[in-house]
Amino acid sequence: MIIKDLIILGCSAQYSTRFRNNGAYLLRWNREGFLFDPGEGTQRQFIFAEIAPSTVTRIFISHFHGDHCLGLGAILMCLNLDRVKRPIYCYYPSSGKVYFDRLRYGTANKNDIQVIEYPVSKEGVVHKDDKFTIEAKFLDHRVDNIGWRITEADSIKFDKEKLQAKNISGIQVRDLQ
Ligand SMILES: [Zn+2]
Repeated sequence: MIIKDLIILGCSAQYSTRFRNNGAYLLRWNREGFLFDPGEGTQRQFIFAEIAPSTVTRIFISHFHGDHCLGLGAILMCLNLDRVKRPIYCYYPSSGKVYFDRLRYGTANKNDIQVIEYPVSKEGVVHKDDKFTIEAKFLDHRVDNIGWRITEADSIKFDKEKLQAKNISGIQVRDLQ
């Protein structure tokens, strides 16, 4: 099933409130799960949203103020407990490497999952494949802060009725692509 949606797991800043968790945003895009800025309590928000944390394939930290990253360690722990086999890609401002490591290795839990880090020090493309491109751009804030842009690769869609009218089908359609 193809899913493309944005789940707001939390939208509070700095302090959680009775009804609003610290920020965390999950963009489900085909087989990818992009998790942005997992604040404290993100792991529990997945339960309320009825989404498995193992949906996450890539994690983005805009900056290392606590409300944008304190849930990172718990999410990685969770993925570890779930024995996720595929790699988890993590993108963050390189000046925050020390904080990333503290959050990732802050407990005695095992770290068996494959975490592939992309500390970003300059703007531009940080990932590109045949499905999408991820770009980083530094934004104004008191600490290094990155905005991310994800662009879906162009694809060709055919009008089925017009194909049928021209008697084009099967492998011929593939050849046209
Ligand atoms: Zn901040």
